[in-house]
Amino acid sequence: MSVLDLPESPSAFAKASWADIAPYFDELARQPLDSSNAEAWLQAWSRLEELVMEASARAMIAYTIDTADTQKEADHLRFSTEVLPQMEERSVGLAKRLLESGYSTPTLETTLARFRTQIGIFRDENVRIFAELEEHSARYQRITGTIMVEWDGVERPLPQLQPFLKSSDRAVRERAFRASSQPYIDRRDELAGLFDQMYQLRQQAARNAGFRNFRDYIFPAKFRFDYTPEDCERFHRAVEHTVAPAVERVLESRRQRLGLDLLRPWDLAVDPYRPKAIRPFNHAAELVGTAQRVFQNVDPELGREFQVMIDEGLLDLESRKGKAPGGYCETLHFNGRPFIFMNAVGLVDDVNTLLHEAGHAFHAFAAHDQPLIWQRHPGSEAAELASMSMELLAAPHLTRPVGYFAPEDALSARLEHLEDILLSLVHIASVDAFQTWIYTSGEGGDAAARDAEWLRLRQRFERGVDWTGLDQERVARWYRQLHIFLYPFYYIEYGIAQIGALQVWRNSLDDPTKAVAHYREALALGAVHSLPDIYETAGAKLTFDDNVIGELVQLVEREIGQIRSKLPALAGTQSPHKTRAANRT
Ligand SMILES: [Zn+2]
Repeated sequence: MSVLDLPESPSAFAKASWADIAPYFDELARQPLDSSNAEAWLQAWSRLEELVMEASARAMIAYTIDTADTQKEADHLRFSTEVLPQMEERSVGLAKRLLESGYSTPTLETTLARFRTQIGIFRDENVRIFAELEEHSARYQRITGTIMVEWDGVERPLPQLQPFLKSSDRAVRERAFRASSQPYIDRRDELAGLFDQMYQLRQQAARNAGFRNFRDYIFPAKFRFDYTPEDCERFHRAVEHTVAPAVERVLESRRQRLGLDLLRPWDLAVDPYRPKAIRPFNHAAELVGTAQRVFQNVDPELGREFQVMIDEGLLDLESRKGKAPGGYCETLHFNGRPFIFMNAVGLVDDVNTLLHEAGHAFHAFAAHDQPLIWQRHPGSEAAELASMSMELLAAPHLTRPVGYFAPEDALSARLEHLEDILLSLVHIASVDAFQTWIYTSGEGGDAAARDAEWLRLRQRFERGVDWTGLDQERVARWYRQLHIFLYPFYYIEYGIAQIGALQVWRNSLDDPTKAVAHYREALALGAVHSLPDIYETAGAKLTFDDNVIGELVQLVEREIGQIRSKLPALAGTQSPHKTRAANRT
């Protein structure tokens, strides 16, 4: 029995306004609902949401690939500011009916818990507020997506300066660093004004829903059932105590290796062991083809899934003018396919980004076997466990002829990846602590106080770099962090998941096949289990504990030490300070 007469493909909704979609929701609301037809009714509702979500995802993808096209922007905005907020409102109504019907099955329990929470915090007056926030988000993307900088007489989008940040010529690096910060310094007032508005709207939405502030609202809103704001603060302290000193050691070694008196922010991306930046690939086709071989070696089924993405055109990877910055993996819920977007320019980072996004893609493939749309996406803490574990699980397969790197480059890339893990943990702690402060201190609506607090938090977490005279550049960093604007509080998830992924990696050092098998089992759980259960299935613990985090940091540092001990002999150039550097390892 079919409850609804639905279109056969999401393309039917490509140009849909809410008025075209509302009648389907009216119909679902009209239908009788009891235990005899609940399953069919749920399937029809899920199918409808799949169609709308995929149409919306396709509009978003088209827009981020071509931000200058006003028609694509309008289509994307129609979905994000009109269709989706209205759909959410109607979905809350349907969820209420479902809960009132008393219908439940064991695999529906996590979905019902989310529905209950969603209904509890839903307020009519917030629909307009979140739609307005979407418009502000689009403005942020417009401002940042169209940034061009002149470099050696050529106008370039910002991601294309990345290779120059890695130059072995320090003056070039400094120029690239300053050139990448300057557009955000120039737009600071505009972006701060935009954020002021977003801050007020978010705090208002939280108060409307009966919360003191947006931080307290976001925990239920993001379905954070398994940890608390206090756990996040434990995480900040654990990072401060265990990761920040490790980063300081890593950077001290870098400083010595580079033969510098002081490490400046433009000295962080250059490879201290390879005089020329490693070029893992020359064009997107090579990036893609190599990735397919790598995944094939991690697990043949993952290789097959990535091949599907190639065959079906589900990748847009190279940096081009007009593309939005960053990278993402979006799920096409109706067809059960992922789409990966990024801005590759030929660097080691691009390889890591693709491995990361592919982890999300494998998650989408695996979770699609769950029958209902709400049973598939378990939340970002599990999503990022999928992506960050893949970065580490794929790492042993990155050497040629399978992977991207000559043997000595592979060591160097691996070192960069492991150091980045430590560096990103301190960044994550500062971004989460910053957002916590913004929404709980009472001063978050004050642009100057925000910038001052960011500087204070950076000093707390990020040690080992000399920022003298660069306060403006240091402040500019948070304006570049699009999550703070577009996806508030979406950041601690990366930290939680990184700690989980390091455990998956630790398991893989003993038995890679078993570790990958557990990883795939966890992905297939979709959203029908709790977060701690998903982590456990993957072979990890959801934890904020100082000692556990400290042990993992030690493991990373040990591995870094081992790689370094193999590297100096390979280095092409000898710095004049080599003797001094060799005295300390
Ligand atoms: Zn991710």
